[in-house]
Amino acid sequence: MMFKKITIVGFGLIGSSIAREIKKHKLSKFVSACDISSKHLTEIKKLKLADEVTPNLKQSMIGSDLIIISTPLSAYKEIFVTIKKFANKNVLVTDVGSSKLEVVQMGEKILKNHAYFVPAHPIAGTEQSGPTAGFVNLFKNRWCIITPCKLTNQHSKNKIKKLWEIFGSNVTIMKPKNHDNTMAITSHIPHLIAYNIVGTAAKLESKTKSEVIKFSASGFRDFTRIASSDPTMWRDIMISNKKQILFMLKRFNQDLNNLKKAIEGNNKKKLFNTFRTTRNIRKKIIEAGQDINQPNFGRKN
Ligand code: NAP
Repeated sequence: MMFKKITIVGFGLIGSSIAREIKKHKLSKFVSACDISSKHLTEIKKLKLADEVTPNLKQSMIGSDLIIISTPLSAYKEIFVTIKKFANKNVLVTDVGSSKLEVVQMGEKILKNHAYFVPAHPIAGTEQSGPTAGFVNLFKNRWCIITPCKLTNQHSKNKIKKLWEIFGSNVTIMKPKNHDNTMAITSHIPHLIAYNIVGTAAKLESKTKSEVIKFSASGFRDFTRIASSDPTMWRDIMISNKKQILFMLKRFNQDLNNLKKAIEGNNKKKLFNTFRTTRNIRKKIIEAGQDINQPNFGRKN
């Protein structure tokens, strides 16, 4: 067994998927599940994914040698403070948050001289949430990014790296700022665009009685899937990675404006060249094994 007791704070899609892997690979003698949702607490008990299920973080972390934070980002500060007050001295703390620089700075400040902290972010997930949405193999063949900080030493980094490798992930190390920069353009802004376009369409639908939903089985449908992601989680990501998102958004708006001008000026060459370049990017993503080359993303309908 790698650990005596693991506490998982926030036992939703990601937390429960981690618990499933811990159980499958017998990585801990005892798993304590801590969550604030009473609905989720009942579901976790039914799923039998933990030895202890509690809304009380203080109780949950007593005697733990590993604490995994998998709550929305806005809950982190209070959790760090509780760890500082009540967890074992030099406990190993890790997380799965989608934004890293702010988390690292907050963790370093609050946990200094109290815990080892290895910030991490699995690039895996779905638009579903809650413990029933989790599953074994969610992390298989996906990237997990570790962003070491001042409270990470070689031993703690190796332990968390090993954990994610057992889950089937490919682990890579990045600086927190680089992580946030990359995620802003590959994940955070795409979600913002999806929320915006579906929001615009929803307003049109009710104003003009247009048939947006009826005829949505084209590009729009993919946006609706992304825009159905958890609102709390995505609200927190937008605020936590504000700086990088706003920086990338400026670039995005410039490019969008150029496309707008190309349409206004009937600039066929500009439109064609832009669309041809982006098609090549999709080809590269498929070659890198990050998606499949099947019509409709392999969907049957
Ligand atoms: P989720 O399914 O909504 O699970 C989060 C759980 O944490 C919920 O049960 C929530 O309860 C609970 N919670 C909220 N505040 C808490 C607190 N103070 N103490 C204990 N539990 C608390 O969300 P998720 O998709 O697993 O995401 C969790 C984290 O993983 C987020 O930080 C996210 O950025 C990161 N992440 C998500 C994905 C993804 O695709 N989903 C991928 C990689 C990383 P309530 O529902 O009552 O709020």
